[in-house]
Amino acid sequence: MYRERGGGGSRSEIGQVDRKRINDALDKHLERSSPSTSRALNGKDKDRLSAQSILTAGKLPHDHRDSRSTPLAETKRSDEESETDSEESDVSGSDGDDTSWISWFCNLRGNEFFSEVDDDYIQDDFNLCGLSGQVPYYDYALDLILDVESSHGDMFTEEQNELVESAAEMLYGLIHVRYILTTKGMAAMLEKYKNAEFGRCPRVYCCGQPCLPVGQSDIPRQSTVKIYCPKCEDIYSPRSRFQNNIDGSYFGSTFPHLFLMTYGHLKPQKVSQSYVPRVFGFKMHKP
Ligand SMILES: [Zn+2]
Repeated sequence: MYRERGGGGSRSEIGQVDRKRINDALDKHLERSSPSTSRALNGKDKDRLSAQSILTAGKLPHDHRDSRSTPLAETKRSDEESETDSEESDVSGSDGDDTSWISWFCNLRGNEFFSEVDDDYIQDDFNLCGLSGQVPYYDYALDLILDVESSHGDMFTEEQNELVESAAEMLYGLIHVRYILTTKGMAAMLEKYKNAEFGRCPRVYCCGQPCLPVGQSDIPRQSTVKIYCPKCEDIYSPRSRFQNNIDGSYFGSTFPHLFLMTYGHLKPQKVSQSYVPRVFGFKMHKP
């Protein structure tokens, strides 16, 4: 599983192409399997996996991970600036095996809105409360996110591996929506907001106001992520078609508003100017 990620660029392209197919497969799987089936699967290997998690959790190389995150963040930022909509440029992921799953995932094209969630946050069971019932292959997905070596790659079929990858994506999203409401998560999103990484408001009178990501629903698979403009207080579709495939529930309906309450000084003045339609210079009569 880890090895598959090597080669960065090509893998991310495949990831994008296959995303729809995998999501379709996951949809089918979710429809097909009752919650009890997935729980049975989870329960079966739970003991082994949790034991394994505990064993490996203490040994995760934190300092190693930190040193890696800085250059990646830098690369990403410079990509963003030149990007806007140039979908030719590829994401960097040439670090291959050294990249953690979280870094790899956040650097995929279209995933620019995601912050990197701290391992410590994910390893605290309290923060994951209730997610095991929502995500199929939960234990495997969690291992994948945390780069816990497991042998399931050998015993799973290719389709099952794809499902686990897709489940990991969903699990990460559902952890992410919680994380970005914490102090640390919000600070990470603040950095991205300062760099206008969530895009700018397309409305002319908003003068390029940086936006924040928002979901119209907190329930997965209801709608895709939108961007919220704090100036005109309206929502828009992201410019990149890759970002248009991201589930809105991975950002949630609360985030931009709690963010602007937390960082009150960042809330811009409400825009007073508005567009007036004219015909030959005359305002149009409103019946
Ligand atoms: Zn606006």
